[in-house]
Amino acid sequence: MQIPVYLDYAATTPVDPSVAEAMCACLTQNGIFGNPASRSHIYGWKAEEAVEIARGQVADLLNADPREIVWTSGATEANNLAIKGVATANKANGTHLITSLTEHKAVLDTFKYLEGEGFTVTYLKPDAAGRICAKAIEMAITPETSLVSIMAVNNEVGVINDIAAIGAVCRRKGVYFHVDAAQAVGKVAVDTAELPVDLLSMSAHKFYGPKGVGALFIKRQSHVPIAAQIHGGGHERGMRSGTLPTHQLVGIGLAAKMASDLLVGESARILALRNRFLQHLESLTGWQLNGSLEHRVAGNANISIAGVDGETLLLALRELAVSTGSACTSLSVEPSYVLKALGLTDELAHSSIRFSFGRYTTEEEVDFAAKTVAEVVLKLRKDPPLWQANKAKV
Ligand SMILES: *Cc1c(COP(=O)(O)O)cnc(C)c1O
Repeated sequence: MQIPVYLDYAATTPVDPSVAEAMCACLTQNGIFGNPASRSHIYGWKAEEAVEIARGQVADLLNADPREIVWTSGATEANNLAIKGVATANKANGTHLITSLTEHKAVLDTFKYLEGEGFTVTYLKPDAAGRICAKAIEMAITPETSLVSIMAVNNEVGVINDIAAIGAVCRRKGVYFHVDAAQAVGKVAVDTAELPVDLLSMSAHKFYGPKGVGALFIKRQSHVPIAAQIHGGGHERGMRSGTLPTHQLVGIGLAAKMASDLLVGESARILALRNRFLQHLESLTGWQLNGSLEHRVAGNANISIAGVDGETLLLALRELAVSTGSACTSLSVEPSYVLKALGLTDELAHSSIRFSFGRYTTEEEVDFAAKTVAEVVLKLRKDPPLWQANKAKV
C-alpha cells in the first residue's frame, strides 16, 4: 500500500530536521549530556546554559519574561498544573470554576477530577460558530469563582476564541484566567505581555518540536498562588520537580525560535492551501464547514458530509491520514463532543473529517486530497455499501 498523505498536523507535527539535529547534540558523550542541576562541573554548566537559552527562546515567542516559563512534559501536564494548582491553592477563596464544553480532554478530565474533590464547575456552551463569548463568562462568574479556563484555539475545528475580551472580564472580576494555547502557539501571534492572561499552556509537538515537552507560562505580575503537582528536588523553583531533559528543551527552544521567524509567512502559505482545498470542494454538494471560517487558524478544515456514513467514508479515504469526528470508546463509536456542542446532529458529527495542513503540505497534496474526497463521496452516495443500504432500510 502507498503510504497515505499526512493531513493531520493538528494531532502532531514531525520534528523539524534542524530541531532534531540540535537535540541529537545533547545526548551522547561528546554532546551536552550533563545534568542541568549539576553545579560543580562544566558538564552541568553547559547543560544549564542550553536550558536557559531554550527558556529565552520560548519566552520570546510568547513575549514573556524567561522567569515566567515553567517546563512541563507537555500541554496535558501544563493544564493539570494550572487548573489543579490554582484551584487547590485558592480553595479557601472559592470553589467555583468555569470552563467550556469544547475544551481538550486534558482540561475537561482535570475539571471532572476536581468535581470529585468538592469543586463546582460550570461548562459553558459555545455559539454555533464554536466560540465562547465574554458575556457568557461574565454572567457565569460568582463571588465563589476562582478560575476560568478557556482554550485559545480549538483542536477539532480550529476556531479562535477572543482571549483578550474573556481575559478583560476575568481581570475586572478578579478571577484568575488560564488559557490552553496548545493549538495557538506557533500558529498565531500570542503576546502574553499584552493579553490579560495569568496562565497559558503550550506543547512542542504541535509546532515541529518533539513530543513529551511543553511549558506553562505563569504571569509574574499576577502573583498567582499555585500548588505544585509533582514533588521532589525542587526544580523549576519548586513548581515542577524532575531532572530537566536538556535535549527536549533544546528542541522546544529551537522550534519556538523557528516559529517566531516563520510565523507570518508560513501561516499565509498554509491559509492559501486551506482556501485552495475548500475551493476545490465547491464542486461537491451537501457538505458544510464546521465552526467559524472567519475566526479560524489557517491550517484547519473540519467538514461534515451529508448522506454518507462516517466510518465508511474514513475507510474509503485510506489514502489520506486525517481525523474523524468520532471517538472510539470501549463500547461504541461516539460522535465528537465538540461538534455536538456546536449543535450538529449525531449523523453530521459522525460524517465529519478534520483536515489539518502544515509546514510540509504541498499544493499537490491538497489537490489530491480534495479530488479523492469528491470522488469517494460521489461514489458512496451513488453506490452505498450493502450493509449501509440495509441499515438505512431498517
Ligand atoms: C495536543 C493538545 C493538548 C495536549 O498536549 P500534549 O502535549 O500532547 O499533552 C492539550 N490541549 C490541546 C488544545 C491540544 O491540542
